[in-house]
Amino acid sequence: MSKFMDRTTSLRRHQPQQIPLTARGIDAVQQVIAVTGKGGVGKSTLAVNLATALAQAGHKVGLLDADLTGVSIPLMLGLEQLEEQTIKRGLPVSSCGISVMSASLLDQAGQEFVSAEAGTGQLLYWLLDRIHWGELDYLLIDLPAGSDEPLLSLARLHPVTNLLPVTTPQKISLANVRHSLDLCRQVNLKVLGLVENMSYFMCEHRTNPIEIFGIFSAGGGQKFSEEYHLPLLATIPIEMAIGQAAETGIPVTIAAPESPAAAIFRQLADSLAASLPVRPEIKSEIP
Ligand code: ADP
Repeated sequence: MSKFMDRTTSLRRHQPQQIPLTARGIDAVQQVIAVTGKGGVGKSTLAVNLATALAQAGHKVGLLDADLTGVSIPLMLGLEQLEEQTIKRGLPVSSCGISVMSASLLDQAGQEFVSAEAGTGQLLYWLLDRIHWGELDYLLIDLPAGSDEPLLSLARLHPVTNLLPVTTPQKISLANVRHSLDLCRQVNLKVLGLVENMSYFMCEHRTNPIEIFGIFSAGGGQKFSEEYHLPLLATIPIEMAIGQAAETGIPVTIAAPESPAAAIFRQLADSLAASLPVRPEIKSEIP
């Protein structure tokens, strides 16, 4: 069994502990963006590529994987073979120009403190409170699917969190976004707009895009964003380069910067940075 699996397994063995409702670890973080959506729609893919695209544009970026098992993000960033001794107590790991933390990257002390039985909301508190994120322009949080708990925890902790829902064009995925938006209204979380992933597929033998989920789903994100008066921030195609990048542990923004998908992630990063401005660093203001 790999070290990666060992960490996840040992995480499950420990008893839950009471975790305080504070987020001292993100005191110096300017903007928090939480990516949410149904399982499998591409939350981790979006979070990883948006984080690296923001970093490529010169921002200081962190990426927090709020899933209890913490498997996808480390794999997508080539971190699954990380040795225990390279994980420093309370500090995120550096990869692809961003600071990363995930349950599976916690040091032994972290694993002993956080247990799977503690629940996703408590894990989130712990990762925002005990991990020293330092000065960041943007912290992206990849929220786990299937529970309202992390979103409600976030609203309690950091009321200025910006939510970025991701969906496929399908009704089944949009229904999940509808639920999150209703919840956001109740807890006053700001929603930035909608990202539609797996919107279409460009086949090299055809000029028109293929609606991968069939004609009934086509334009699903567009119609939904009009209904909710939300901007449709990006439509991301199904692209082989995105899937390959996830397998090799190098995000498509870095592995294939010239690909159409990488260009879309960069555009999205630029438009989010424009709508969520950050203060320049103090040192750059000194003449
Ligand atoms: P989630 O975090 O929502 O569960 P993931 O980001 O893990 O979803 O994506 C699920 C799978 O789909 C992964 O294997 C990922 O590589 C693949 N994937 C996601 N978006 C795309 C895309 N636009 N093109 C190709 N593959 C994609």
